[in-house]
Amino acid sequence: MNPITHTERSQQNYHQLCDHLVDGVASSFHKDPNQPYPISFERGEGAYLYDLDGNAYIDYVGGMGPMILGYAPQAVNAAVTKQIEKGTQFAAPFSNLLRLTEKLTAIIPCAEKLAFQNTGTEANMLAFRLARAYTGKWKIVKFEGQYHGWSDEQRISSDALRAAQFGRREQPNKLLEVSGQLPTAADQILTLPWNDGDLFERVLTKHGDEIAAVITEPFMCDSGPIVPKNGFLQKLREVTRHHQVLLIFDEVITGFRLALGGAQSYFGVTPDLAVFAKAVSNGFPLSFVAGKREVMNCGVHPSGTFNGNPISVAAALATIEQLANDQVYRRFDMLGQMFTTGLNKLGEEYQQPLHAAHFGAIIVLHFGRCDSPADFRDALNTLDQPYYDRFVTTALQYGVRLTPKRGRLYLSTAHTEREIRRTLEAFEQVFQLLT
Ligand code: PLP
Repeated sequence: MNPITHTERSQQNYHQLCDHLVDGVASSFHKDPNQPYPISFERGEGAYLYDLDGNAYIDYVGGMGPMILGYAPQAVNAAVTKQIEKGTQFAAPFSNLLRLTEKLTAIIPCAEKLAFQNTGTEANMLAFRLARAYTGKWKIVKFEGQYHGWSDEQRISSDALRAAQFGRREQPNKLLEVSGQLPTAADQILTLPWNDGDLFERVLTKHGDEIAAVITEPFMCDSGPIVPKNGFLQKLREVTRHHQVLLIFDEVITGFRLALGGAQSYFGVTPDLAVFAKAVSNGFPLSFVAGKREVMNCGVHPSGTFNGNPISVAAALATIEQLANDQVYRRFDMLGQMFTTGLNKLGEEYQQPLHAAHFGAIIVLHFGRCDSPADFRDALNTLDQPYYDRFVTTALQYGVRLTPKRGRLYLSTAHTEREIRRTLEAFEQVFQLLT
């Protein structure tokens, strides 16, 4: 495989964009801080993206998660085109809306009722509001290292690395993460380390009468993949129920990727509320809160001009139809196995400590001396970030696009054994160069 040597058009496009657009990108996540400029793409097809200079990349970023059927899949394109001809926005009910709600409530365990939004951020904000309205309490527990969106309250984090040096205090120091964030945004948020059921129980025993909800990714994906310890999700379920605190699963990434019914069906733990987005509509903006009827009916009425718009609904119906087939998830498993076995073997050969694992259509990579970090503190302490950064940069030069910063890769139904084989060949060249 020859390395890609010409990306001048991407460079030029980015520099021109910088004159007109904050940071030259539409979202801060569209840029890898380790690259001098982001690659600009002309088109995507199946598992591949093609840049402005005509270079092809096998893509594992999946548009930050949504592209579970790959780029420009025929089934979604056809459904969307048909809907465009009939009208794109009614601000009123329509028959596909009923079809979609019937499907989602049938496949998602906690989904007795739904409320649509457009992005994961909005749907998580709605979930917070529902939990507060239903319980009459204000505080929300979130876990270190988890991202639930960009609103003031969602961007409260804790200094996990520093906290790790001081041991497991009950309430790690909370941090505002971005400028312009309301200083009071942290007032009603508690942050805790993940995967520590005993600490969680102690905190709820002490503060349960002030806590409306606990929000968690059921499998930490966004900011460094971390698997729940055996029994941890069950413990969250039991303890929250005992203290009349709602359990919210943020399934923005895990939804439709671990299983059709999300992580809640994969792990067999049903939350009170769950938030889905990204993969539900393969690249069209649609998100929703799903939950228990009595919580969803508690008097919070969702607003939003484009909520459940006909285009995204048509895309979601077509996407779910493609995914509603056991073969699909068996294939993700098979490809995930091929990818991770191959990469782990290369890691051994080139004496680079790493651990690759797969869950449904998600592949997780941890470059460092730890097979399975227990929480964000472990992940930060054991990750060989400089090596991973160099790996991502070099892989891109060999035509394989990985997620920057954190090892979380997405498979699509368009990936085949051929792409995985070519990826592993490229990885071998990357290891040779980096060793
Ligand atoms: N929750 C998780 C777990 C996410 O990964 C993201 C985005 O990456 C969000 C929420 C926010 O979703 P959105 O970017 O659609 O607002």
